[in-house]
Amino acid sequence: MPYEVHIDTDECVSAGKCVSTAPGFFVFDPDEIATIDPDGPRPDDDALLRIARRCPSGAIRLTLDGEPVEL
Ligand code: SF4
Repeated sequence: MPYEVHIDTDECVSAGKCVSTAPGFFVFDPDEIATIDPDGPRPDDDALLRIARRCPSGAIRLTLDGEPVEL
């Protein structure tokens, strides 16, 4: 089962690393807060792990079967 991706919109600081690394899946909303387009090209789990680890604010969280994935 693949990771599920969550963005804490209160934590996102609009740095854009996720959006530039996986455009179309991570996208900015009109307020430049990152969100996910479920129809966008989903990165594989290894890439998602790297992206989540690089988020400067820790806004991206991954879960597997409902359990948090350690970043
Ligand atoms: S990398 Fe983190 S802080 Fe930057 S836009 Fe994405 S979710 Fe927001």
